[in-house]
Amino acid sequence: MRTPSFQVHSPTTLSEALQIANSLKKQKTEFDWISGGTDLIPNYKWGINPRSNVISISGVDELGGISKTRIGAMARLQDIVESSEAHPLIAEAAASVASVMIRRSGTLGGNLCLDTRCFWLNQSETWRKSIEYCHKCDEGTGADCRVIPNQNELCVATYQGDLAPALMCLDATIHLASLNSTRSMPLEDFFQNDGITRNVLKPGEIVTHIELPDDSLRRFGSYQKLRHRDAWDFPEGGVAFSVGVDRDGSVSSLNMASTGFESIPRKHGDLISSLGKGPNWALEAERLGAELKRSVRPVLNTWFPPRYRKKMASVLARRAMEEASKRVTSA
Ligand SMILES: Cc1cc2nc3c(=O)[nH]c(=O)nc-3n(C[C@H](O)[C@H](O)[C@H](O)COP(=O)(O)OP(=O)(O)OC[C@H]3O[C@@H](n4cnc5c(N)ncnc54)[C@H](O)[C@@H]3O)c2cc1C
Ligand code: SF4
Repeated sequence: MRTPSFQVHSPTTLSEALQIANSLKKQKTEFDWISGGTDLIPNYKWGINPRSNVISISGVDELGGISKTRIGAMARLQDIVESSEAHPLIAEAAASVASVMIRRSGTLGGNLCLDTRCFWLNQSETWRKSIEYCHKCDEGTGADCRVIPNQNELCVATYQGDLAPALMCLDATIHLASLNSTRSMPLEDFFQNDGITRNVLKPGEIVTHIELPDDSLRRFGSYQKLRHRDAWDFPEGGVAFSVGVDRDGSVSSLNMASTGFESIPRKHGDLISSLGKGPNWALEAERLGAELKRSVRPVLNTWFPPRYRKKMASVLARRAMEEASKRVTSA
């Protein structure tokens, strides 16, 4: 498999990066941002929607940095794992991504903007051609989705990034920038339930950093992941749970979020609201797990079958709650 040729732009400041993006946009030239390249380059090699231009942001120092309440889009995952500043829940989720070697290149921004995955798509060009492609990368054939056909434009490929649920449990805000403006939103509002568009980024817009509320320092949590091989596989399901504790020991917040079950990572405020904030929340782990199992909607496009992944949603939720409870007790 050969990587198709493309032109690389290597800005050294954010403003330069945004100007290059804007001028490519004006010329109607499609491009991708590239940070670590651990997701984008394998996709290009497989002929999955490669673009003629990529803008590398690895030389843009403004996009780096790890502090207790701010992590730059270019922060490398292994640096997050090893940082004494990063919240332990984020470090735990980062440590579960792929292998050390991949984490040394992979970044926070790339992880959040990770392309969705599907076993009909993440294959070589030759293989996809032999089955006449699918809607997400149809090579002009007008091919339909192979997982749920006849559903108009939707692609139900699965989002399999590990960091989003951990960040959602800490109420992270994501910050975006384009040439003349910036905007921010709760991380859960960043994702779009379509395996092709994936998120709200507009052409020429970039993720600059995530920000955490001050009270995230008083939150304790756990991230639990299901995968085929512990050595490096993507999540077939992942659940994060967090508990905010006030100085007097009372519970100030509870959060749960999942990944790997649908086209978006999802925060489950609706399920959590039934827990209240009483001291006995941990006793509800079985019930909450069962409710998460009912709520998630995996489809048949990753390694494990949907029924098993649904079942495991309840197990992962229970484990995450039990582990979070232990961490509160030992804090
Ligand atoms: C063998 C293998 C195993 C893996 N296992 C896992 C796993 O277990 N869990 C997991 O979560 N991931 C896994 N990955 C995927 C990937 O390595 C990580 O998600 C990594 O964090 C991606 O970051 P990156 O910087 O390399 O992204 P890139 O490949 O550079 O980019 C990924 C996407 O994000 C976009 N992008 C990058 N940065 C920005 C930005 N700042 N603003 C806007 N768009 C941006 C790119 O255009 C591209 O579409 C695995 C990859 C491999 C090859
Ligand atoms: S979900 Fe459907 S359209 Fe999307 S990648 Fe898979 S087969 Fe293709």
